[in-house]
Amino acid sequence: MIVVAQKKTVFFLLAFIFMGGVSASAITLGLHPNMNNWKKEAIVITDVKTDKKVVALTFDDGPDPVNTPLLLDVLKKHDAKATFFLLGIKVEKNPDLVKRMSDEKHELGNHSYSHADFNRHDDDFVRAEIQRGNAAIKKITGKKPHLFRPPGGYLSYKMVDMIREEKQIIAYWTYQQDSKDWRNIKASRIADHIISNLKPGQIIILHDGTSNGSETVKAVDLLIPRLYEEGYRLVTVSELISMEKRE
Ligand SMILES: [Zn+2]
Repeated sequence: MIVVAQKKTVFFLLAFIFMGGVSASAITLGLHPNMNNWKKEAIVITDVKTDKKVVALTFDDGPDPVNTPLLLDVLKKHDAKATFFLLGIKVEKNPDLVKRMSDEKHELGNHSYSHADFNRHDDDFVRAEIQRGNAAIKKITGKKPHLFRPPGGYLSYKMVDMIREEKQIIAYWTYQQDSKDWRNIKASRIADHIISNLKPGQIIILHDGTSNGSETVKAVDLLIPRLYEEGYRLVTVSELISMEKRE
């Protein structure tokens, strides 16, 4: 019995070390010990309880001068609204694209200023990343974003406090709806992943600002008609939050 117990302990220790060393977003999602409390408090949102067939498409790490205009064209073609989590540094370089997103009624959220690894920096740096990201968007739209999505899915008690102080909400994503589209994945596979995991109230994470962005744009063009065929409607993350079914 003792041997068994020791083996188990070693297994859990190894599992813990392994998971601690991997910063992949999917693992972070379930791993933070306070995640469920933050979700109850609605300071962190991963999905929304609803009977209605609605989901939110979200796009990270842009705006990208090549892929984002194509994505906006695709969204317009299908009359779809999305939420963009923007990097302040790219917002400053592409103000016209940000203006276009805003004019076309997409929601703009903050994804930090430079996508720095928050694990490697102190509180002042993290606060500055959040505030500079907010300021870059506000300078163009005149409106401070309501939503923040931390780079790499980073979460800490201190950072959540900072977001409370900013009177914002952390818009995470639905674990099952992370297709890892930023990897070298073809459009059809990205769309298939989303359709086969589809449920009402989900927040779907995609990336227009990474190197596989052109496949993501093609995926969205395949995906939206299929979502409509399934009877789904696309809303922004803030609209989705406002539709939450209260018990
Ligand atoms: Zn990102």
